[in-house]
Amino acid sequence: MALALLSLGSNLGARAQTLDAACRALAALPGLREVRRSPWYETSPVGGPLGQEPFLNGAALWESSLTPIALLEQLHAVEEMHGRRREVPWGPRTLDLDLLLYDDAVVRTPELTVPHPRLSFRKFVLQGAAQVAGEMRHPVLGRTLGELWNQLQTAPRYVAFVGMTPGFRMQFAAEAAEASRARLIDPTPREVPAFETLLAADGRPPAQVIEFAEARRAAVESSLAEAGDEWVVDDGYLVDELQTLQPTRIDDAFISSTPQPRLLARLISDDAERGAVSFGLPQVELDVRRREEALAEFAAALDAAS
Ligand code: ADP
Ligand code: MG
Repeated sequence: MALALLSLGSNLGARAQTLDAACRALAALPGLREVRRSPWYETSPVGGPLGQEPFLNGAALWESSLTPIALLEQLHAVEEMHGRRREVPWGPRTLDLDLLLYDDAVVRTPELTVPHPRLSFRKFVLQGAAQVAGEMRHPVLGRTLGELWNQLQTAPRYVAFVGMTPGFRMQFAAEAAEASRARLIDPTPREVPAFETLLAADGRPPAQVIEFAEARRAAVESSLAEAGDEWVVDDGYLVDELQTLQPTRIDDAFISSTPQPRLLARLISDDAERGAVSFGLPQVELDVRRREEALAEFAAALDAAS
């Protein structure tokens, strides 16, 4: 028996009755048994058309002997029983059933992605998921759902871009910040000499690396201090940059005292890159081959993590 974590949502019709009925319909299927369910809670719509009604959301943990894809087919069948039409992306729906986690399986096919790609940064999903399965671990990020929920709750509204080249990232981050009305951190000194050539004989980070890291951290901290409710956008992730400077052995204490982003926005240009890098933080993947969609997805991710 595997453990399948589901999220449920509805924003049309008799929402609570629909969610209850969906659970009963699943329970009637061979190979599925409900273990635990969160209370249903109301959330504001994120993404999709403006002016939608609020959602009722929740999560449920199930024992399953179906394969992940067979389970997804059953979820679709139950959605259809409740009159679900797939029209507008992220639009109103009588019932939305998503497969969030299936034990520690990682599935990437055109029909099914597990873990669900938007699980880690959607508050309206993680709230219930962490409640019924706080100890379950996200197999790609390596963090428990409780930890991811905590990161979303407590980290400042700070999003850092990773992936692609620094030049491309800077340009994209500037565009994304403007499109989302977020505050871009002032450019940090990047004309530091090639770090690899600067390793001191004793294997400790050279003064230039420390100087760079400290300047960067100061820029993050002052932007966060001035930002208030605004999101702060960083065109790089300091910890990532320091790690690519291996073997500089920058102090762990320095890294752990650096503000952690609430969200990473990972730029990818190739399907093979999906889920490729993990820093254990909530993250949204933005496929830069479709720039407009990537910008819209970025904006929706900030909303969902707010
Ligand atoms: P969303 O749930 O993000 O609002 P939809 O419910 O409209 O979006 O789902 C769009 C498609 O996502 C579905 O056709 C489904 O096959 C696919 N999909 C991929 N992975 C999953 C998953 N883990 N759970 C549910 N649907 C998934
Ligand atoms: Mg869905």
